[in-house]
Amino acid sequence: MASAPSKLYADDVSLVVVLLDTNPFFWSSSSLSFSQFLSHVLAFLNAILTLNQLNQVVVIATGYNSCDYVFDSSSDLNRSFENGRMPVMCSSLLQKLEEFLITDEQLSKEEPEGKIKPSLFSGSLSMALCYIQRVFRSGALHPHPRILCLQGSVDGPEQYVAIMNAIFSAQRSSVPIDSCYIGSQNSAFLQQASYITGGVHHKPQNLDGLFQYLMTIFATDLHSRSFIHLPKPVGVDFRASCFCHKNTIDMGYICSVCLSIFCKHHKKCSTCGSVFGQAQSEAASASDKKRKTPET
Ligand SMILES: [Zn+2]
Ligand SMILES: [Zn+2]
Repeated sequence: MASAPSKLYADDVSLVVVLLDTNPFFWSSSSLSFSQFLSHVLAFLNAILTLNQLNQVVVIATGYNSCDYVFDSSSDLNRSFENGRMPVMCSSLLQKLEEFLITDEQLSKEEPEGKIKPSLFSGSLSMALCYIQRVFRSGALHPHPRILCLQGSVDGPEQYVAIMNAIFSAQRSSVPIDSCYIGSQNSAFLQQASYITGGVHHKPQNLDGLFQYLMTIFATDLHSRSFIHLPKPVGVDFRASCFCHKNTIDMGYICSVCLSIFCKHHKKCSTCGSVFGQAQSEAASASDKKRKTPET
């Protein structure tokens, strides 16, 4: 018991912020039901907390209109025990999740039904980073944070700028973004997020074994990753979205001043107002955007 305080936070103590996709449009069409998905995830979260008693888990629900914190293992409420048997983790998480789902649905009463709506991952990523910044500022002793995105719905191209900003912010704070994509197509945003921040991206082939994928890949703490072979990206989808129509594009025009991306040639940059001459505007692969240096 009388161990030195510096021993408390060893290399392998983790803070895992899990972003849970609750998009009803996706879950109504998925082969894996939301309750099955939850049972895999809850077992995984319990396992993380069991691996080290100082480990911490935060869950952020990502809906299609809003996002909110639904669980924080460090709060006193979640540390209590029910009938001396089980922590109340599951019941409090499920209750908050249900309240969140109802509120999230109510927010969209006026919106017309139509094409599949993406989940608000830009919002939940920002919330995760805010939480982690607070942990960083709480003192020198803190667990090593990482983010795990569990996404099934399609990417929202209109969130491109916000998501990329969150990714670069995570990269600057050395917070890896792990991602597990459980939908049918793969997510270009998640692949880029994990690639840029040094996290792991994986798309499980068989969703019945989701718990095993989560345990063998995403339970690995940051210290152990230096000597464990985790899946490496075989190819990353670097496509970007144009700022004018929010479409995903392979080739586009880039403003040489502010690096805004457009699918068509414009006379003037809508972001910074620079006037494009024939020489100033250059057609380039959108994936090269971040490597180009601005020429003024
Ligand atoms: Zn466009
Ligand atoms: Zn510009």
